Amino acid sequence: MPESLSPAELRCLDRAHVWHPYGPMPGRQEPLVVESASGVRLKLAEPAHGQLELVDGMSSWWSAVHGYNHPVLNEAARGQLDRMSHVMFGGLTHEPAVRLATRLVGITPEPLRHVFLSDSGSVSVEVAVKMCLQYWRSAGRPAKQRLLTWRGGYHGDTWQPMSVCDPEGGMHELWSGVLPRQIFADEPPAGFDAEPDAAYVRHLRELIAEHADRLAAVIVEPVVQGAGGMRFHSPAYLRVLREACDEHDVLLILDEIATGFGRTGKLFAAGHAGISPDVMCVGKALTGGYLTMAATLCTSRVAEGISHGEVPVLAHGPTFMGNPLAAAVACASVDLLLGQDWEQEVKRIGTGLREGLAPATELPGVRDVRVLGAIGVVQLDHEVDMTAATRAAVREGVWLRPFRDLVYTMPPYVTGDEDVARICRAVCAAAREG
Ligand SMILES: *Cc1c(COP(=O)(O)O)cnc(C)c1O
Repeated sequence: MPESLSPAELRCLDRAHVWHPYGPMPGRQEPLVVESASGVRLKLAEPAHGQLELVDGMSSWWSAVHGYNHPVLNEAARGQLDRMSHVMFGGLTHEPAVRLATRLVGITPEPLRHVFLSDSGSVSVEVAVKMCLQYWRSAGRPAKQRLLTWRGGYHGDTWQPMSVCDPEGGMHELWSGVLPRQIFADEPPAGFDAEPDAAYVRHLRELIAEHADRLAAVIVEPVVQGAGGMRFHSPAYLRVLREACDEHDVLLILDEIATGFGRTGKLFAAGHAGISPDVMCVGKALTGGYLTMAATLCTSRVAEGISHGEVPVLAHGPTFMGNPLAAAVACASVDLLLGQDWEQEVKRIGTGLREGLAPATELPGVRDVRVLGAIGVVQLDHEVDMTAATRAAVREGVWLRPFRDLVYTMPPYVTGDEDVARICRAVCAAAREG
């Protein structure tokens, strides 16, 4: 192969050999080739629709909250690279992992005390489920091995997470006969500010009570359901879940992989409800979008339950568990976030999104426009034409990745007001043309 490949050669080899998320092989869509990224801008290897630079409206799927090529995160990565990029975690430990775990315990809801570091969000959900099932097995109640969730959720692409994604119209419908069969409540009624619906509260309580003997845990995304449909719900339902779980001896897992680290306006979305889970997953923005890492946190009750059981260990240990490079960048990213008035930045972006997306309500084919924290969503009354919508956004100089009936954005927190306005124009253009 020649030392450097032209954008055309890259696209050709990409098509021949490289899978992309939720894509066919060979690929049908032409991906844009990114050469570098800095601040909130992706620099393309060749112009697309007249643009060589795109403002990133996606934070690389919720993760790059500080933008790209950040001097502080670069320095953390470089410093750690010179010491070691990886050592195994069995029998060894190191400062980046210890620091990160301690930091996470310090900033997450109170009784969470123990941290399992893994390499991706989906794996952190697998670990969370394994913890809960094993907790009940150790407690002499092995029948408690099912999960309950509400419809419209998304928890990842590996097996257990797939089983709690929305079973219909979701991304994993194909596997409905093969996956572990879980228990589904109806979708939570829409609206962050909506008054809690009494009938729905009863529905949640009754379902948990009915299945309690077989339920290991309830697992939900708090406040914002992300990849399952970008829906917001009242934090009151989380308090209902917490109460019902306590009442019926069921553990509560909160999947904060998308919502964690300030995205919804609270550091963790559980903070909107003032509750804490027994087990919590974080990922995505954990490393500021630099490297792949996720964490599963649990309470002492869960950890001690497992460790006093018949098999007194948690039998899970990914090869790259606690990866020092990712942990060092994660520490730097969390410090960077907490060292600034992130709440103000998220609020500022939310205000910009509310203003900039208001015109979308007038567009034909738009069903709903909603904003929470630094998340802006335009929902259409039909499936979006992804190619047309993406093209429209790129013409405005913005990178968006619409899906299903949704054109949405969650910009990096460092996005300036003018760029937020530009993202909004692109969302409107994408909604119009998609
Ligand atoms: C993205 C996501 C996951 C899966 O994380 P990966 O790192 O992609 O495996 C799980 N749960 C939620 C809520 C997510 O948004």
